[in-house]
Amino acid sequence: MNNISTNTKYVDPFGRSIDYVRLSVTDRCDLRCFYCMPKGYKEFEEPEDWLTFDEIERVISAFASLGIKRVRITGGEPLVRKNLADLTTRLSKVSGVEDMSLSTNAVKLAKHAQALYDSGVQRLNVSLDCVDTDKFREITGGGKLEKVIAGLMAAKKAGFSPIKINMVLMRGINDDQVFNMIDFCSEHNFVLRLIETMPMGITGKEATLRYIPLDEIKAQIAERYEMLPAVQRGAGPARYMSIPEKNINIGFITPISQHFCDTCNRVRMGVNGTLYLCLGQEHQYPLRDILRGGVTDEELKQHLIKALALKPEKHEFKEKPDNIIRIMSATGG
Ligand code: SAM
Ligand code: SF4
Repeated sequence: MNNISTNTKYVDPFGRSIDYVRLSVTDRCDLRCFYCMPKGYKEFEEPEDWLTFDEIERVISAFASLGIKRVRITGGEPLVRKNLADLTTRLSKVSGVEDMSLSTNAVKLAKHAQALYDSGVQRLNVSLDCVDTDKFREITGGGKLEKVIAGLMAAKKAGFSPIKINMVLMRGINDDQVFNMIDFCSEHNFVLRLIETMPMGITGKEATLRYIPLDEIKAQIAERYEMLPAVQRGAGPARYMSIPEKNINIGFITPISQHFCDTCNRVRMGVNGTLYLCLGQEHQYPLRDILRGGVTDEELKQHLIKALALKPEKHEFKEKPDNIIRIMSATGG
């Protein structure tokens, strides 16, 4: 290993400070959102290849010593990984980790919300593309909306605040649901975040045929409600507006129409310990064999620094939509 100082901030070749890791704890899921996971998909990682909680804690500790402050637990569906709250308890104690959040479909959240909150998960994002039972079942390949709603209510009761709802917009699928979602989020005091579809894997490419630039949706909302620029806590690229009449904040996440690569602050780690340096590129750095090969803590840090040097300048979703064969759930979306 070359001798790079590890006391510096984790800065990539394009001068971006990286302080955020999105950690996939499983590539499996109890839903089959058609834009994310292909029907009948079976190419999951085998359990012996999943990083153990000890290994994950070790990697996050190494990241933290390099300046990573925020960790988001994701997947696949993170709540299908057994004993997740044990992991979040451990990660919340890692020195340097200041913010731990979770992305979930909320199907199993009713059971786990309190334990996760008590373990130190501070912020919660729930994927929900509509509040129409039949449409929800269609989009998610059989999901039951009432379970998600129960999960959301349990999360509120447990103390999560704010709770952000992530809605991927698709023409002809759920673009007629925006105002219902505004009403729902307003009623329950949730933040609504609208997201453009990304061409990840075969499913994402199909969904991108239904792509809607969010400016179009913003204009529709502005026709009905006054909107004002707003500030909302978070580590990501959403641009927020408030609707005072509904007492709600709406975030717009526009990876395609207005990409935000110049301020990208994150890396992702798959369940098998592969680091992905960009959602929209194949640059990666496998850590599992390194971890299982008896690496020292200092060597592990040097590996992370080498990995970061691979982080590309930007995604090319628009220019090269056929680039990415990984589906979102395999990356840690
Ligand atoms: N299962 C959890 C969930 O659904 O929140 C966490 C993982 S999921 C892969 C994370 C996010 O990726 C979800 O908000 C989902 O809507 C989004 N996503 C999946 N495929 C996508 C695509 N092709 N384009 C845009 N967003 C996508
Ligand atoms: Fe599962 Fe989340 Fe992908 Fe839907 S978006 S299939 S809930 S991983």
